[in-house]
Amino acid sequence: MTEYEVVIGLETHIQLNTKTKIFCGCKADSWKAPPNSNICPVCSGLPGVLPVLNKAVVEKGAILAAAMHADIRLISYFDRKNYFYPDLPKGYQITQYDQALGSGGYFEIPMPEGYVRRVRIHKLHLEEDAGKTKNDQGRRLIDFNRCGVPLVEMVTEPDLRSADEAAQYLIRLRQLLRWLGVSEADMEKGHLRCDANVSIRVKGSKKLNTKTEIKNVNSIDAVRNAIASEIERQIKEVNAGRQVQAWTLDWDDETGKMWMMRSKETEADYRYFREPDLLPLQLDEAWVKDLIADLPELPLERRERFVREYGLPIYDADILTGDLPLSTYYESAVQGSPRDPKTVSNWIINDVLRILKDLGISADDLNLTPQYLAAIIKLIDENKINTATGKGLLMKVQETEKAPAQIVEAEGLGLVSDVAAIRAAIQAVIAENPGEVKSFRDGKETLLGWFLGQVMRKTGGKADPKLTRQILVELLRG
Ligand SMILES: [Zn+2]
Repeated sequence: MTEYEVVIGLETHIQLNTKTKIFCGCKADSWKAPPNSNICPVCSGLPGVLPVLNKAVVEKGAILAAAMHADIRLISYFDRKNYFYPDLPKGYQITQYDQALGSGGYFEIPMPEGYVRRVRIHKLHLEEDAGKTKNDQGRRLIDFNRCGVPLVEMVTEPDLRSADEAAQYLIRLRQLLRWLGVSEADMEKGHLRCDANVSIRVKGSKKLNTKTEIKNVNSIDAVRNAIASEIERQIKEVNAGRQVQAWTLDWDDETGKMWMMRSKETEADYRYFREPDLLPLQLDEAWVKDLIADLPELPLERRERFVREYGLPIYDADILTGDLPLSTYYESAVQGSPRDPKTVSNWIINDVLRILKDLGISADDLNLTPQYLAAIIKLIDENKINTATGKGLLMKVQETEKAPAQIVEAEGLGLVSDVAAIRAAIQAVIAENPGEVKSFRDGKETLLGWFLGQVMRKTGGKADPKLTRQILVELLRG
């Protein structure tokens, strides 16, 4: 049986989170806004208007290009891509064709199996989004709100080798976009959309065979399922002696089926030419240098550093670098804590993350600051409170915004380490249980645990356990 290798390239459309659209002052985010409420003559394509490029779009696009290690062109151009579709009122889309903002670069994807897939980036370009249409009782309705929303289209080389790798690419890209603060990257809201080019070849061959393009896959699971199903279909075709046709396919998530949309347009169909209403986009070299120098430590770099610097397992480092605020939170807590970095990691992964999830907030919105978390760990470490009290304090600090020590003081949660008080409690327990005392003295030393429990009950669990055990042994042995 012939063994096949899968060849996948992805084209992602990334909605940048600027305040306004790419060529006009309309609000860019129209989530939940009524149809056609964020539009103006520019983005709805009325005659005689002129586009004005939004600087924030260029900045965010350049940050993404820098994070992809791409070359940022100091002079790039906008072009018109001509096609006729009801959601495109101008009859063309302003995009960047042959001289785009970014070219080359790569994105490294660590796979759960342990290897790293390096995906080369072919190009990144800026463009405007089109509107939306929807069918409503036999009528076609058009909403222009999305016209002119800024996008980066990022195209990879065909370097991905499985549906799982494609899914991981999107997971890591989403993480990076949020980390950089350039996009909300919410796939459900269409901030991150993906088209996949899929082909197969005999294993070991270097040839690129005819590919199909899967359009409009809008969740990570859908990308994985659509690609897996297309790979299976292509292998069946080839095994049956047929050729794979260059189709454009539409994935239907509900049925798990693919539909043929149309035979693919070729680039010549779009009649690209330079956008005459916009000047070339010219970047200052020093500005680009500063932008690259100011790039934050990227998530996967930070993940590696957490392993190296704090001796964390990769599992912990991966969770703690899930988003930027959480990773900053962790580092601040480690700095303030007397305990090792792994203990702090356990507290965050086991307890703080649950609070974040329950409240639906991000780590930088917590009243339970990293300093307070470190203070709670310190109180336990110094035997001032027990672990159960410490865990209870997390939510109390979050709700009251008070310092942990203040709550311990006010609510009397501290461990009793007053020797006289502990001694008195032990003496009371001894006096109340003469039978058990006799058994202990006759050699049944396993009763020590039982006595310890009695003293704890008497003190409401707040007696310092180490000290209690010490005094208990002393008094029982008489
Ligand atoms: Zn507008």
